[in-house]
Amino acid sequence: MTTLRTDPHPKRPPRLRITEMFRDTVQGEGPSTGRRAAFIRCCGCNLTCGWCDTPETWDSSRFDLAAESSWWAVDDLAEWALEGTEPIIVITGGEPLLQPGVVPLAERLVEDGREVEFETNGTLAPPRRLVDAGVYWNVSPKLSGAHVAKERRIVPETLRAFAALERARFKFAVTALTELDEIAALETEFGLDPVWVMPEGTTREAVRTGLQKLAQPVIARGWNLGTRLHIEIWGNRRGK
Ligand code: SF4
Repeated sequence: MTTLRTDPHPKRPPRLRITEMFRDTVQGEGPSTGRRAAFIRCCGCNLTCGWCDTPETWDSSRFDLAAESSWWAVDDLAEWALEGTEPIIVITGGEPLLQPGVVPLAERLVEDGREVEFETNGTLAPPRRLVDAGVYWNVSPKLSGAHVAKERRIVPETLRAFAALERARFKFAVTALTELDEIAALETEFGLDPVWVMPEGTTREAVRTGLQKLAQPVIARGWNLGTRLHIEIWGNRRGK
């Protein structure tokens, strides 16, 4: 696990530690699935999910994080994002809310007319400036299959804060059908709406098998069924 609140050169203009940026792709998950998007992947996470598909952002036991990432000035990141024509800029991770520089970055992108979607694990409160800017929140609370202690992955006051936001949607990656009861309990306790459920998986076969198992029970519970479109198209390729 890495925590990256501290820029080693705080007197410089705001900077972000980035694992990768890529474009010419689509949003692969959640309500915007299939829409053209560019991605900015932040380094660092405050959780350690067993099935994490981006461990290169945080797992220093398996990856050289210094080699996997680089520091970017907010202005340069914004320039990169705005050079493209993608209507959606996804700011993801790791956990992007660990880095304060995401606030001026997202503000700049929204000012320029882009839709900004944050992918967050729902454990860190949404910054007021980002709410005011009108970003969208794809909040993905982690379930028991992530093998992270519940008190770390479920932060009640933070889930309540997200549930109160008009632009938040709740997206769950499911490893077993038994986790659907966990989602239902969270939905009831915190008033999560809308709920999107997708299979966890990094192969086409795993995603398809998961979808077939999930479809009926998810629909029966009144939720939305989501896929992992980038896996369906490109497999588990970085930069897509
Ligand atoms: Fe990986 Fe997301 Fe879990 Fe962090 S919260 S460890 S990025 S799956």
